[in-house]
Amino acid sequence: EPRIIPKSEHGIDPELVSWQAKRCCEALQRRGYRAYIVGGAVRDLLLGVTPKDFDVATDATPEEVKRSQRRAIIIGRRFRLVHVIFGQEIIECSTFRALEGAGVRKDGSGRVISDNVFGEMWEDAARRDFTINAMYYDPATEEVYDYHHGFEDIARHRLRMIGEPAERYREDPVRMLRAVRISAKLGFQIEPATEKPISRMAKLLKNVPTARLVDEVLKLLTCGHAVECVKRLRDDGLSAALLPVLDHLLSSPEGEEFLMLALRRTDERLAIGKKISPFFLFGTLLWPQVKRRWQYNEETRGLSRIAALHEAAVEVLETECHTISIQRRFQADMHDLWLMQGRLERRTGKTPYSVVQHPRYRAGYDFLLLRSQVGEVPESLPEWWDAFANADDDTRIAMIREAQ
Ligand code: ATP
Ligand code: MG
Repeated sequence: EPRIIPKSEHGIDPELVSWQAKRCCEALQRRGYRAYIVGGAVRDLLLGVTPKDFDVATDATPEEVKRSQRRAIIIGRRFRLVHVIFGQEIIECSTFRALEGAGVRKDGSGRVISDNVFGEMWEDAARRDFTINAMYYDPATEEVYDYHHGFEDIARHRLRMIGEPAERYREDPVRMLRAVRISAKLGFQIEPATEKPISRMAKLLKNVPTARLVDEVLKLLTCGHAVECVKRLRDDGLSAALLPVLDHLLSSPEGEEFLMLALRRTDERLAIGKKISPFFLFGTLLWPQVKRRWQYNEETRGLSRIAALHEAAVEVLETECHTISIQRRFQADMHDLWLMQGRLERRTGKTPYSVVQHPRYRAGYDFLLLRSQVGEVPESLPEWWDAFANADDDTRIAMIREAQ
């Protein structure tokens, strides 16, 4: 019952398809299995965009997938799938999942917490979130299999949930965040019935494990349309339910100005192909709190300026990172990023030499630049560091002397 769309109609450029994904499908098809590129990759291919990752769906079991590939590992508990490895490239290969059955377990609020029962291709399609994410591309025949009129929705720039939206959000509240992110990223309209239940159901996000929420927030903030996403999260009442931190920020005017500027810079960096580090983003989100405590520690507790900052950084990491469970590996970098803001104020003695040598200098400088753009520090400060970092030895000596 899927509509099979021939190459002549969909016009996908085979050049945009990764050879690794093709290779993965071929190996399975040679053994008599069905195998297709699926999900976001097909959506992007239909839009003429190079997909950032490729997923494959198949009727082979994870063990059979593993046997068919040169290098592959089975991962996941809640959702077992296979990572097929080609050097740096990983193709995620999953077995068609059944729609409903003994293996699908839900918690008290209707949220799906485990499912590992395999099913038919049509069932796999019906379990996906949006119609435009539920198409299958066979790299051998170059045909697209469309079960839910995704092809038409692509043409109309429309994001539409498969099935009954409220029920699908109850099963997995993260789909509300995905609706915001994917529509902002593609510039698509969320279809009214898909949009409508969101503000009413936003509070269900609190049932989602924090680690998964943090992952999703990172995706939102690094999708290249962060400004737009954050505005819409707020309009839909999702930001409040999402991260207490995000809400804090959006409710204080100075925090908001800083955050929005940072997100605008993030979007611009991504637009020119630069990378964004999660620690920088989280460092930005939490900076207004660090600043407040820095000032308190210095003025009220009488600590030295650097000690006050260090204490503030530790306090914020302990309280906030615990509640929003930012991974430990980002925490050290966030601490360095913040502490560098204190060291960048000191332009005397040997400090400037060690500061520019620091592995996080570049990030610290970018952060200082942001702060100068909202008027937190004079613009002459980042200008000085830029000049110092690029100066020869004699000029540096003169610069330090003048700065004193
Ligand atoms: P991106 O461009 O961000 O990778 P994507 O649509 O590919 O977008 P992924 O997280 O890579 O997003 O998911 C791959 C596919 O898995 C989706 O296209 C969709 O079909 C399905 N999927 C992902 N998350 C969900 C979900 N929460 N509920 C239902 N289906 C989902
Ligand atoms: Mg994807």
